Amino acid sequence: MTDMSSTQATPSDIPARLQLVRQEMALAAEAAGRDVHSMKLVAVAKTVPVPAIEEAIGAGQRVFGENRVQEAHAKWPALKERHTDIELHLVGPLQSNKVREAVALFDVIETVDRPKLARALAEEMVRTAKRPRLFVQVNTGEEAQKAGVAPGELADFIALCRDTFGLAIEGLMCIPPFDEEPAMHFALLAKLADQLELRELSMGMSGDFARAISFGATYVRIGTAIFGERA
Ligand SMILES: *Cc1c(COP(=O)(O)O)cnc(C)c1O
Repeated sequence: MTDMSSTQATPSDIPARLQLVRQEMALAAEAAGRDVHSMKLVAVAKTVPVPAIEEAIGAGQRVFGENRVQEAHAKWPALKERHTDIELHLVGPLQSNKVREAVALFDVIETVDRPKLARALAEEMVRTAKRPRLFVQVNTGEEAQKAGVAPGELADFIALCRDTFGLAIEGLMCIPPFDEEPAMHFALLAKLADQLELRELSMGMSGDFARAISFGATYVRIGTAIFGERA
């Protein structure tokens, strides 16, 4: 027997895997006393080829994530033309020199994390009148190598985004350290969002999304459980 979670999904598995993930989300929501409609599934399609993405779209999935601007730019303009109701999220790091492409392509940018990037986004949004929704990435584990704003600097950063750059930040996202219990990171992100009166919480991946839902996630970002192991 093969373990489904450790093999690459063939395209025909994708609708079944999606349905399973949606069922697990509904169960986790019910266990947490939450309405499943108060949260969205972001299908993270990094490294996933277009035909497999089309399978997910065919199964009703509309919210997708990518972690690289370049890869997203190669895959999504044509997909978005064919399916006009797609909501595309950037969940990976954004370099200032990719801001133009990112603002043109993404509906939600989840990884705002430094003043220089906030300034570049603000300028591009004014220039083009395109307004992707913005979340701030928080480095909840304060890991030196990881992107994101330190929890202690978050309030000032969000005030800077708002007051200096005119950017409305709608939510927070985090990627917990992978060798730690994620619950404390989800709890911290939820507490910060509550203090700062931010509505959206992007947290939880294939291995821990039920946990994230119990802590209030409004977006869970799931790749492997839908599309199979990445090459
Ligand atoms: C790849 C990725 C995910 C999805 O991870 P899985 O474990 O495959 O579900 C979620 N968030 C970010 C930021 C990612 O890069």
